[in-house]
Amino acid sequence: MLQTLQYVPEYKEELIYPAICKSLDALGIADDMRPGLKVVIKPNLIIAKKPEFPATTHPLVIKAVVRWLREHGISDITLAESSGGLYNAEYMKNIYHVCGMRQLEPDVSLNMDFSAQTLSTRPGFANHSFHIITPVAKADYVINICKLKTHAMTGYSGGIKNLFGVIPGLEKPQMHYRWPELSDFSRMLLELAQTVSPQLTIIDAIDAMEGNGPTGGTSHPLYMLLAARDLYTQDYFAAGLMKLNPMKIEMIRQAVESGLARPDEIELVGDPVPEGLTPFQLPDTKNLDFTDNLPGFLKKPFLFFAGRLLKSYPQLDREKCIGCGKCAESCPAHVIRIVEKKSKNASSQKPGKKAVFGKKGCISCFCCQEMCPMKAISVKKAL
Ligand code: SF4
Ligand code: SF4
Repeated sequence: MLQTLQYVPEYKEELIYPAICKSLDALGIADDMRPGLKVVIKPNLIIAKKPEFPATTHPLVIKAVVRWLREHGISDITLAESSGGLYNAEYMKNIYHVCGMRQLEPDVSLNMDFSAQTLSTRPGFANHSFHIITPVAKADYVINICKLKTHAMTGYSGGIKNLFGVIPGLEKPQMHYRWPELSDFSRMLLELAQTVSPQLTIIDAIDAMEGNGPTGGTSHPLYMLLAARDLYTQDYFAAGLMKLNPMKIEMIRQAVESGLARPDEIELVGDPVPEGLTPFQLPDTKNLDFTDNLPGFLKKPFLFFAGRLLKSYPQLDREKCIGCGKCAESCPAHVIRIVEKKSKNASSQKPGKKAVFGKKGCISCFCCQEMCPMKAISVKKAL
């Protein structure tokens, strides 16, 4: 499996474009190009944040890919994403604007078709079909361009996890509700990835995110662009660059055990893995999970008896909360309410709308934390 790594010290067009050319040439992507090919780029635009903040795919990485495609005779190029939250014209226009995607026009069309299609999956999958956004469903060729990040629920977010953004809008929280256990959710992600089956996956790790990813963490640059046709093995490789144990990331472990990821076959081309990479800080949800240190044979019985006490729950910082309701909108269990709080005395917190979290029914998916623009949600253990 060919894996490319290109050293890119900063987000500058003149540095990124040659790196993309070298990567795509090494992977033989030019051989796939033919006149009339309908190409869809699937970025990570999870939240309306500026490109300088490491939550979303940097527009200059996409711009370089678009330039390469056009130089290879491809003109039908669409950028399509269903961010966290709603999937409609008003919401996505703001995402495109804030995330810096407008600068890609007119070389690429920013998707404004908010319909979805049902695609059947392979026999034997737990998900018999997926409802996915139309441009991706109808594409001849999908290029998955993700951001390298930690993730509160899955631990890691790269190529596989990025494809969850083909599920339209608030159907994503429904998927969390359908598959609340990490093992089932991870299997769903792998089935979805095999259904979308992107021809190429590029990881923007020039800057990456550590800590409370995928939206509330901090910068941890790796100064790298990664690319591969095989997104499963690439995720194994990229998790290693973050100094995470890939076999402790459930979706990667399942990918290895099912034969989708083949880490023994990685053939690295381009720049070497640099010396002195430092471990990414984990999200609070994972830092508090000391069951990782238990021997395997003790873990299951321990979780059976102590599972409820060890469960993580969201905790609100009321001072930071502005009552925007994005957490409630994304909560699959509908346990968040937005209420008007009155100030009891002058020294107490300011009055106004605030979120109120019910513990009963919470499935600890942390979609609320993911969507909070104010970083007002942290993690606490029931114990
Ligand atoms: S917790 Fe965050 S997302 Fe929820 S209402 Fe408050 S500010 Fe908005
Ligand atoms: S409160 Fe937060 S963690 Fe709990 S189910 Fe709702 S979105 Fe998920």
